[in-house]
Amino acid sequence: MRVLVVEDEERIARFLKKGLEEESYAVDIAPDGPAALDWVAGAEYDLILLDVMLPGLNGFEVCRILRDRGVQTPILMLTARDEVDDRVQGLDVGADDYLPKPFAFKELLARMRALTRRAAAASTPSTTLRLADLELDTITHVAKRGNREIELTAKEYALLEYFLRHPRRPLTRTMIRESIWGYDYYGASNVVDVYVRHLRRKLEANGEPPLIHTIRGVGYKIDDPE
Ligand code: CA
Repeated sequence: MRVLVVEDEERIARFLKKGLEEESYAVDIAPDGPAALDWVAGAEYDLILLDVMLPGLNGFEVCRILRDRGVQTPILMLTARDEVDDRVQGLDVGADDYLPKPFAFKELLARMRALTRRAAAASTPSTTLRLADLELDTITHVAKRGNREIELTAKEYALLEYFLRHPRRPLTRTMIRESIWGYDYYGASNVVDVYVRHLRRKLEANGEPPLIHTIRGVGYKIDDPE
């Protein structure tokens, strides 16, 4: 596993490199945004740890540029403060997850493992998307919880498919709205909340445990029942 750590504070960068190498990761350090872009252009990484507060280009800008260039490597943003705006902005520019500083090293390792596992699963195409007891057939558009079949409208299907293609990661309302309703949607601003409510009602109609979880101030994620 090869990891790029983008961090300008030398002390933190050294600490991360040492800790990750002990866990058998190969680690490169980029001290700023332009260096990170060079490293990514020249090597294949399994994961990028990207600090938000960087001189010159900040982490959000670096993330957006990488995604614009088609780089699909999982990106874990390290945010200086646990600020909702930072988290939402990070996700909006295409980061896969965020971890507020200061963090426990164990937590970092757990997030990194989750991201690389997810990336591996996403590269195997399948016509059935699954999470817990939920199944969605992307050909017939039939959803099931256990043996119970669930009828979905076209928009509900699109929303559920979007959730299941981005499992276990926080999704902002903006990301969801732009992907299902398009960039030029000018209808009701709470459309995402309304459809999530419809979808939840159908998914939990027999008292099944919730799979779509609300993340306060951010949006939603689909994940195993709590
Ligand atoms: Ca920094």
